[in-house]
Amino acid sequence: MKRRIGWSFLALSVAVSCSGSPGVDVEESTRLNPAAPSTDVDAITPTATATVPPTSEPSDLVESSNPVDPASADLAGVGDSLYPTLGNGGYDVDHYSLAIDVDVDANVLDAAVTIEAVAVDELDVFHLDLQGLEVQEVTVDGVEASANRTGHELVVTPDRPIADAAPFTVVVHYRGMPEPIDDPAVPFDTIGWHQRETTVYVVSEPSGAMSWFPNNNHPADKATFDFEITTDSELTVVANGVLEGIKEVGGGQSTTTWRMDDPMTTYLAAVYIGDFELQESFTADGLRIRNYFPPAFADDLDDDFELTADVIDFFETLLGADYPFDEYGSIVLPFGIGFALENQTISVHGLDSTDPYTIAHEIMHQWAGNSITLGDWQDIWLNEGFATYLAYLYFEDRGLPSDIAPIGMYAALRGGSIGPAEVPVDELFSPSVYFRGGMALHALRVEVGDEIFRKILVAYYARFAGSAITTGEFLAVVDEVAGPDAVAVLDDWLYGPDLPAFPE
Ligand SMILES: [Zn+2]
Repeated sequence: MKRRIGWSFLALSVAVSCSGSPGVDVEESTRLNPAAPSTDVDAITPTATATVPPTSEPSDLVESSNPVDPASADLAGVGDSLYPTLGNGGYDVDHYSLAIDVDVDANVLDAAVTIEAVAVDELDVFHLDLQGLEVQEVTVDGVEASANRTGHELVVTPDRPIADAAPFTVVVHYRGMPEPIDDPAVPFDTIGWHQRETTVYVVSEPSGAMSWFPNNNHPADKATFDFEITTDSELTVVANGVLEGIKEVGGGQSTTTWRMDDPMTTYLAAVYIGDFELQESFTADGLRIRNYFPPAFADDLDDDFELTADVIDFFETLLGADYPFDEYGSIVLPFGIGFALENQTISVHGLDSTDPYTIAHEIMHQWAGNSITLGDWQDIWLNEGFATYLAYLYFEDRGLPSDIAPIGMYAALRGGSIGPAEVPVDELFSPSVYFRGGMALHALRVEVGDEIFRKILVAYYARFAGSAITTGEFLAVVDEVAGPDAVAVLDDWLYGPDLPAFPE
């Protein structure tokens, strides 16, 4: 994720004054979104919260007094440091099949989600995460199961216990209007499924996936996905992965099928429905890039996103590894949302977040965050510090101006910061994570030199691509490649109470 306001606005100001970068964001925001006020500050999220009210249910994401029975706490969460009830114990999901009929005007879903999982213990009962919506029926291996709701926990009791290590299939039928979620990490918006004007869009990091489908809602449990979305035939439907086909089903409706064959965490699952124009191109290596733009802005946006292939090429060289998935694309919503988010294979941008730096940042996340995934939300800097700093390296290498540069990041931290590897939940998307996390990598590079720094990146990605990891596993790679002095530098930046001196 990359926010445009708050810290990013500060960063932009600092970058402009310190490095001479042009203030492209403000100009583009005004040009592309004539309905928006003329400053970044006013163009932010109140519009979203005004049209889609937040959930009326109190958040039970982080409260120690959450309504889950303590006796089933290990079933209600995976032990995350910041979100004790996100994800669920007792099983691993292999695959989600999402079959969802969407009435876009009414914003009502009628859905059947099939979850193929494997038990890691004998299960008399297990949990899924689902907030709101009306559950109509749950079956386990074809037999109706009992289901109860407790906060965002959907507690399923199968007809007979599931044996340890046994595969099992859960089907959940549900319907209703999704209610976006108030997550304490995202004070600037609600997250999950949104409908605005004639567009449906999903932005789920960290907890929003459970606003629109039942799942094991933690990045540590990655799974493959397919999506069968049925809606009005004249609307375009975009989701993760590869477009399999579009089939007319009668009554002016069609079903669009997308398939995500590489494991993906739930917060990166996304669906977009609306009026979008597809623009396709290819990298030099033949990777398909498919961008979806609002038709009225398509020509300008095509220019904005022209750097995509070059950015992918740069990151492949930097990390010594191919782009991790079958295709890449960006979708731009026909309004501003104040940030962008790196859904796997389909990053979403608002009309106010299509600046070159943000485009590069979301592309970097396909490696850092999407392929290598968080094992615990406390380690969010492994996503955001890497995306922040490695996106900057693209502009440095190409000799292009960048909105983000080390001197600007450091200046933004002087007002106060904490070690990014120990942030509380309400600082998950704070300058400490983006800038101090990014500066940690810059300090490492200054300490070990460009050649060893790149060796660390290559070794780190080669070892953990496709995995869910924590900070300690990154530090172990640094230790192996560069030794304990390099780890000590990172310790100061990641955990130290005080801001270290600017590295030079
Ligand atoms: Zn990000």
